[in-house]
Amino acid sequence: MTEDRAAEVERLWKHVVKGPDPDDCWIWTGAVGDDGYGRFWTVGDGIRQRTMRPQRFLYRHLTGIDLPPSTMLLHRCDVALCVHVDVDPAVSHLRVGGAAENQRDAARAGRRRNRFTIEKYASLPRADRVARSRRLRDAVRAHGWDPELIARALSDAGSEHPTLF
Ligand SMILES: [Zn+2]
Repeated sequence: MTEDRAAEVERLWKHVVKGPDPDDCWIWTGAVGDDGYGRFWTVGDGIRQRTMRPQRFLYRHLTGIDLPPSTMLLHRCDVALCVHVDVDPAVSHLRVGGAAENQRDAARAGRRRNRFTIEKYASLPRADRVARSRRLRDAVRAHGWDPELIARALSDAGSEHPTLF
């Protein structure tokens, strides 16, 4: 690993808040893109910077596998800002999948869940997904790992569109 890469990894971890339990999400608290997913600036080719989703960066770092752009990393936990990658698929919150599979997953409830999982995160309208991710990011950034605040940020409480249940 080059100096640059080591420094990048260190920089990435500064933006991640891990829950205390092994199965908890690791929440990205850095930049959030207009798709509701995290953005991490990397050195790229050494000349130009490029942005990556932090979970893809971590996946490459931890597994040594550089996924082609067409290959997606899917969230089992359904929390778009989660970067809980592990080489053990039974532990990892992210798994490799294709675009078609992603759409199928998005349309289907019943993925692996933990106590913060909300349904249909990926199938939310884009604006709602972004708002939810930013709310979660801001809550964790300001207060660290607070289960109550995280659950609230992931629910519809606080949004302009109250849920009907
Ligand atoms: Zn997760």
